[in-house]
Amino acid sequence: MPSWELKAAGILRALRLESIRSKILAFAVLATLIPSFSTAWLAYRHYRQALAEKLTEQLGGASQQAAREVDLWLKERLLDLRVFASSYEVTENVERGGAGRARLVAYLGSVRRHFPDYPQLAVLTPSGQVVALSDTIAAPRLPEGWAAEIRAGAPAIGPVRQDSAHQRVVQDIVSPVVVAGGRVTGAIAATVDLGPVARLLAGASAQGGNRMLLTTSEGRALLGAGLNLAGGGSLPLAAATELGDSILATVQYTSADGEEVLGLGATVSRSPWLVVAELPLQAAFAQARAQRNTTLLVVGLVLMGVGGLALLLVLLLVRPLTRLTEGARRVAGGDLDVALPVTTGGEVGYLTEVFNGMVGKLRDSRLELERLTVTDGLTGLYNRRHLKETIAQEFERARRHAKPVAILMVDVDHFKRYNDANGHLAGDEVLVRVAALLRESIRTVDRAVRYGGEEMLVLLPETAIDGAVEVAERIRARLADERFAGGAVTISVGAAAFPAHGESPEALIMSADAALYEAKHHGRNQVRRAGVEPAGSGAPG
Ligand code: GH3
Ligand code: MG
Ligand code: MG
Repeated sequence: MPSWELKAAGILRALRLESIRSKILAFAVLATLIPSFSTAWLAYRHYRQALAEKLTEQLGGASQQAAREVDLWLKERLLDLRVFASSYEVTENVERGGAGRARLVAYLGSVRRHFPDYPQLAVLTPSGQVVALSDTIAAPRLPEGWAAEIRAGAPAIGPVRQDSAHQRVVQDIVSPVVVAGGRVTGAIAATVDLGPVARLLAGASAQGGNRMLLTTSEGRALLGAGLNLAGGGSLPLAAATELGDSILATVQYTSADGEEVLGLGATVSRSPWLVVAELPLQAAFAQARAQRNTTLLVVGLVLMGVGGLALLLVLLLVRPLTRLTEGARRVAGGDLDVALPVTTGGEVGYLTEVFNGMVGKLRDSRLELERLTVTDGLTGLYNRRHLKETIAQEFERARRHAKPVAILMVDVDHFKRYNDANGHLAGDEVLVRVAALLRESIRTVDRAVRYGGEEMLVLLPETAIDGAVEVAERIRARLADERFAGGAVTISVGAAAFPAHGESPEALIMSADAALYEAKHHGRNQVRRAGVEPAGSGAPG
């Protein structure tokens, strides 16, 4: 066997895969699992990547669109404020004091009525002193460093804050009041309601199916649509930074409400804000998961189908092989009564047929061998060895059932003379024919044995001496009718029966022998029974 084959066999043994059945099953399972899982895995990865690209596009588009809208909105508010600041009422009255102040208050009140998104407006001196207020509840909060911006002629934007007085999210913006010649004479400050921004985000959210939120650049959530920001949540700083930098890839993080999301941010150019579009991870990959589960289900079903087929194969192929193995084991153990059913064609079927034929031949030759070991080659009668076994059994049985057993000792008369006159072959012929005659004259339970040269013994179970003599006479009479090449052939017979003439096989044979001797002594060609003292037996004949 080549060394690789030995190694492979070692591995299979270690894996307990030695039987054909487990090899077929393992092969079927692997042959199904490897291609289906690798295909499914590749398809899933491909699908996930496509999905990620789609999500990037979706979230990026939504956040950028919303950021542009928020920016536009902010631009409009700054424009509003510039328009208010450049109004005649403001430029004329900002430095007038007393009467001017009343005019300014009236003007601011009118603006507030016409623009409900400005809950509070104020006119200030460049140093921050309030000249006029539209409302006395709360003045706008001035953003840090506003004065420098105003002096430079630029607007200042404050942080987003909760306006507790009006129960809304607001922001403060300041715009300079510039008179002819470019001189800054004051400022107009306004608190702006961010309600429209919230509505804008809500609209974008409803349209795209994403969660939209506005955060500071540090990730503090300002406004949100689709998530509850009651706790004033914030995004992780790292995620916020990444969101601010990236417009190409989604970022995965835990959002302000604790939900694991995929997000993509867009900066609002005129402010330090970030518009973030988010999609809960659960929802984002639900489709991919559904596809994966379907794939697993299909693979599972295929596996079951293949497993079933493999089992069928095992039944068709391995069952006959197992039967063959079992049959071979029985034959090796000496049991030749094995005939396997041929249930399949092909090599295994052929092998089974050959096996059956082989066992049949073995059976025949063993029977022949058995026959040869218990029979005599010339006459076909049983031999002495067989007699020794059977006579003991017959005695055993006879004792147990209190039944008689008889034997006849048969000897051809003057056989030496016949041999000498006709040749040894003719003598053999006589022996064969006498043997055939013996066999034909007895029952199947009786046994005819070649006891010695031309001496034969007949064992007659359950037969008493009278019956035995009867059989002997019948044989003698039949022989008288036979014609032989060398003239007439006669026999002398001694009969004896258990228990009267012997308690053991040896004793019984001796008695029969003695009776045979009597028959010879009294002229041959006759039957003598044992134990009968003939008249004048005391004197030699
Ligand atoms: P008796 O009537 O007293 O039995 O005389 P017999 O000649 O038959 O007795 P004996 O024992 O003197 O001779 C037996 C002869 O049987 C001797 C032997 O040559 C012959 N014989 C023994 N076995 C065979 C055999 O297988 N074939 C042949 N042809 N002859 C055999
Ligand atoms: Mg003889
Ligand atoms: Mg003899």
